[in-house]
Amino acid sequence: MPDAKPPEPAEGVAAPLSSHADVSAAWDVFRAGGVAPCPVDGAALALQVDGTSLVYRFVCVKCGTSSPWFEASFGGKLKLRGPRPGGPLSID
Ligand SMILES: [Zn+2]
Repeated sequence: MPDAKPPEPAEGVAAPLSSHADVSAAWDVFRAGGVAPCPVDGAALALQVDGTSLVYRFVCVKCGTSSPWFEASFGGKLKLRGPRPGGPLSID
């Protein structure tokens, strides 16, 4: 049986979990006590915490799809930081 690989995103289509809206939606689900599904394969997204910078990102437990790092509070808005925990704030 061949490996089931997630489909490559079409050219011009943003990677899954790369937009502020995608990450916000997953964060809202997480804050409500739910488990956000991976946009690629529907598996659970785990929340990864960087203890140094106190930033978070979602990582799929199955395929490894990950969101940019972001700052967030449980009551407020989140701010995307980009691919590295200590990276600059992205414009969004
Ligand atoms: Zn996945």
